[in-house]
Amino acid sequence: MESDKTPPMDKELVDREKRHLNYLRISITDRCNLRCLYCAPEGRIPKLKHNDILSYEEILRLVNIGVRLGIRKIRITGGEPLVRKGAIGLLRQLTTMPELEDVSLTTNGVMLVPKAHQIFAAGIRRINVSLDSLKREKYAQITGYDKFEQVWSGIQLARKIGFAPIKINIVALRGINDDEILDFGRLSLENPFHIRFIEYMPIGNSRTSSRDQILTPEIQERITSLGKLIPVGNNLNDGPARRYRLEGARGEIGFISALSQHFCARCNRLRLTADGRLRACLLSDHHEPLKQLLRGGASDDQLAEIFRLAVRQKAARHHLSCNELSTVKDQMQGIGG
Ligand code: SAM
Repeated sequence: MESDKTPPMDKELVDREKRHLNYLRISITDRCNLRCLYCAPEGRIPKLKHNDILSYEEILRLVNIGVRLGIRKIRITGGEPLVRKGAIGLLRQLTTMPELEDVSLTTNGVMLVPKAHQIFAAGIRRINVSLDSLKREKYAQITGYDKFEQVWSGIQLARKIGFAPIKINIVALRGINDDEILDFGRLSLENPFHIRFIEYMPIGNSRTSSRDQILTPEIQERITSLGKLIPVGNNLNDGPARRYRLEGARGEIGFISALSQHFCARCNRLRLTADGRLRACLLSDHHEPLKQLLRGGASDDQLAEIFRLAVRQKAARHHLSCNELSTVKDQMQGIGG
């Protein structure tokens, strides 16, 4: 293990396409308190054993190494990150790392009512909440749980506390929730929410398929019946979303179109899975194992080398096409989305 004298390595994570990978998304658990149609398979989901999941100490060590290499932005995700004991403590430790410019959280919002104040106190300001329906029964049909009211109260509370922006993620599925595309669009008129339509990606085992996919151009066309979509200037924290605003709206509407308009050329992401693997692409199962090394006494330099290796091997683009069957075997919960 190295001492504090290790020289900074900043900005080493530049891949063959000259993309600077400065964004690490971390799945801290594969457990979830929902079972969304598009994310969870039929029947029992095999769970990682406690010992297979990285400890917070291990995650923080890897974050520190990543930061030395140039990681500046972290998103905590899952599974459902808030179901893991101590998640808020981890958030606090991350937000107090001076090198990190942005630490954010993706949650399904089920536990926001009891936890939103603590999350804010931990220094988090930007949250993404997944909400695939504004109708109680439909929400239960998609997620398997009658929790719409709970999530909605959580979003309202988060807004009152001062989180901004609050992004609301919707995976639009044909015949399931596409009748609500305009309702979600309208939500952005009266509220400062950033509504973001995410194209369904066939990942792992789920109860939906590419047949249920609705691609961005179609969603966008439907939304324009509410008014013109005015492009909003992108900033550094936007990631892949193409952002718009309906005229006079308080909020925004964004589209994340991994398949119809892939953004690989701008991808700055690495992903740390709950079981300690480093993935350079959401849509490729290729990964570099870190956990064994981490637990086998590897030095920080050896672990940094794994980061570099993952970056060197990042493909120029993914090759999943629209309407294709799943080619990604890993489950989304472990990868983190
Ligand atoms: N539990 C948290 C949540 O619900 O936001 C974080 C984990 S979840 C895997 C992260 C995001 O991935 C959510 O916005 C979810 O809708 C999205 N997601 C899951 N499976 C997906 C799929 N097959 N295609 C597109 N997005 C998906």
